[in-house]
This record gives sequence, structure tokens and C-alpha cells, in this order.
Amino acid sequence: MSRVWNFSAGPAVLPEEVLRQAADEMLDWQGSGMSVMEMSHRGKEFISIAEQAEADLRELLAIPANYRVLFMQGGAIAENAIIPLNLLGSRRVADYVVTGAWSVKSQKEARKYGEVNIAATSEASAYTTVPPMADWNLSADPAYVFTCTNETIGGVEFPFEPDLAQVGRGDVPVVADMSSHILSRAIDVSKYGLIFGGAQKNIGPAGLTLVVVRDDLLGHAMPHCPTAFDFRIVADNHSMYNTPPTYAIYIAGLVFQWLKRKGGIAAIEAQNVAKAKLLYDFLDGSDFYENRVDRACRSRMNVPFYLKDGALDDTFLAEAKAAGLLQLKGHKSVGGMRASIYNAMPIAGVQALVDFLRDFAARRG
Ligand SMILES: *Cc1c(COP(=O)(O)O)cnc(C)c1O
Repeated sequence: MSRVWNFSAGPAVLPEEVLRQAADEMLDWQGSGMSVMEMSHRGKEFISIAEQAEADLRELLAIPANYRVLFMQGGAIAENAIIPLNLLGSRRVADYVVTGAWSVKSQKEARKYGEVNIAATSEASAYTTVPPMADWNLSADPAYVFTCTNETIGGVEFPFEPDLAQVGRGDVPVVADMSSHILSRAIDVSKYGLIFGGAQKNIGPAGLTLVVVRDDLLGHAMPHCPTAFDFRIVADNHSMYNTPPTYAIYIAGLVFQWLKRKGGIAAIEAQNVAKAKLLYDFLDGSDFYENRVDRACRSRMNVPFYLKDGALDDTFLAEAKAAGLLQLKGHKSVGGMRASIYNAMPIAGVQALVDFLRDFAARRG
């Protein structure tokens, strides 16, 4: 068996320890005689798995008691509809901060359900920065302010928490799509009304969507909101109104335990800072490669970069693959390359990438 360094943006690398444990437990989970995939979601074995996963997540993110954790389906893209369906309530306007491809998509979907005010956009910079909160034009009475705190395609991460109290609007709930950086850094959950993310970047397998929502935002769904997507119904039924993605929840739970063993969010954040610094410092010191994102807003998780000579792109990817470095091709909308270096990517993988980048530049520069 050999494993590669996998820089995929998602579905993405998982901790090897987690995959090994899942393999060991595949046929017989802890003496139950069953795979987790074969268990009733209402049986005591699976309920214990789901409860432990929620407890560990609450501990990792220090989620206050007045927030609910929902294990949903449909991915972050479905949440682009589910959130306005649940949160618009009697207000008709929601504010959107647009910082890249994912928030562009989110505001477009929301227009099906209500009025959208673009409070701020970094379109003029080709989505390479995050507009400061002082420049956001919030509407008079928005249902919420939507943000995507890490734009996976552009490689742009909020350098601040969108805490609206700092601009005198602490009454407006902040919604954050954290799909690609949740659990990578410390956050203050109490500053948000709702946090969500698809699991396949930093949490576990695709198929699970995590939602952390403040109590008072439940119970306002529009009458035509699908029952299975009504946050109140999902919360009241402990994410089991319909059959949840049981195996994905189990793997997410193993990832949460792995994070706790590693020392929790503070420890993984320190490692993520070191990994990002290693890669960005190399790119900045090279005249062969470039990253075009505002330095203050560079993502620690997704590092897009370009070869100054784009004619070498295919050769670069072929040689990287031969060296065991996979899935480095940039998103088709922006071209170039992208290295996603999520929690489960060890620093040795980033070092292997930097070594390859240096060697390729020396040979082809
Ligand atoms: C990957 C991603 C999505 C899309 O998630 P799906 O699971 O495909 O719905 C949305 N937002 C962000 C920030 C992402 O990184």
C-alpha cells in the first residue's frame, strides 16, 4: 500500500489514523457484530456514536448551550436555500457580503426566497480581498448578514471575525459558510447566529452537512420550507427526523476524537499557521510562482498559485503526480494551481510540496 500527498480541495485528505480505525471497525463495531453502516439510526449503538460526536464537537469549538448542532444533508449548496427558507421569517431582506465564487452562488440562490442586499463585495479586486466591516452597507432591518469566511476557490480567508457588535449592529445575526476552514482555527461561536459547512473538507466524508444555530433562530421557517429542512424540526428530532448520514457522522466523530488527541483547536491552529507560512514564504521568495491574494486575507487552508509561465502548467502537474503530489490543479474558473492543506495534511506533506516546487523551478526556470 502506498499513500500520496493529496492536496484536493474536497472531498479531501482524512487523517490516516482515522481511516485505519474505521478499517479495523468496519465489520464489527466494538463487539456489536455490525458495521456502523448496518446499524439502525435509532439503536443505542448509533445513538451513542452521534451523541459522542456532538459532545466532542461542542468541546472542540466551545459551543455555548444556547446553540443547537444539526447533522444535515444536501451539502453547503443546499444550505444556500435552506438558510433563507428558515431565517428570512417576516423580514424580506437579507444582506450578503460577497468575497468569491461561493458567496456569489449563495446570494444568487437566496434571491429565489427574498430580497438580497449586497452589503459589500470585493469584485473590483477580482475577489482577492475581504472588505472591512466598516465598509459594509447593511440594510435597515436585515434578517441576517451572510458571509463565506473562507473562499475555497479564491483562497481568501477573513482576517477578522465578522462581529457586528463592532459596528453597532450586534442585533443582526451573522451567518457563516465555514465549509473549508471550520475546525482549523479558534472562533467565538457566540459572535454568529449560524455556522454551517459541508463535511468533505475539514470534517469527514461528503454527505454530511454541519449546522450550528442559535436557539432563537429556530421556528421561523417559511410555510413552504421542506419539513426535512426546517431547522426547528431537525433540532427537535435530534437530527433524526429523517435518516441521517450515519456513516459520515461516525467518521466525523472519529475526526473530532483525533483532533482532541492532537491537542484540540489551539494545537491544530498552530500547525496550520506553520504549514501556511512554509508554503507562502516559499512562493513569495520565488520569481517562478506567484499568489495574487491580498496578504492580509490569504487562506491558511487553500493556497492558489500560478506558474508565471502558464505554458508549463501541464508539465508541472504531470511531474508533481509522478512525485506523489496529487490534485494540485486550480479550479477551472481561476486556472493555475491550488494546494489545499487542511487539518489532516501533515507538515511533511507541505514540505514535500515546497521541495518539489523548488526543484521544478530550478530545472525549468
Ligand atoms: C465546497 C464548498 C461548498 C459546496 O459544498 P457542497 O457540499 O458541494 O454543497 C460551499 N461553500 C464552500 C465555502 C465550499 O468550500
